[in-house]
Amino acid sequence: MTKEELRGMLEAEKADELVFKGKCHDCGREIEVAARIEDESPVADGGSVYKVEPSSVSEDNIFLKCEDCFKQDSGLRNWRKTEVYSRVVGYLRPVEQWNKGKKTEWSMRKVYKIK
Ligand SMILES: [Zn+2]
Repeated sequence: MTKEELRGMLEAEKADELVFKGKCHDCGREIEVAARIEDESPVADGGSVYKVEPSSVSEDNIFLKCEDCFKQDSGLRNWRKTEVYSRVVGYLRPVEQWNKGKKTEWSMRKVYKIK
């Protein structure tokens, strides 16, 4: 998260520090990350906080990482949901956008491997 993004969130909450609680994106451990601005730099205790542009409104855009995972890999990977396309009534469309009936048909489809 950038200093400006953190500053905006701190001002919105009228707080000097924000505490993020959740699971580490990489290892799944429950963590708490305290974020604040110190000497004009963003500081996070207990891990790191990532803010991303969500690809849909229902998706989370804040991710946390514990300090151990951050040391191994400081980048945030595999956070975007995979969009699955399939053929429905003759067109290729994202399954997410299909209607309830077609989604039920999708869940009943069987995959065959032909040798
Ligand atoms: Zn972790």
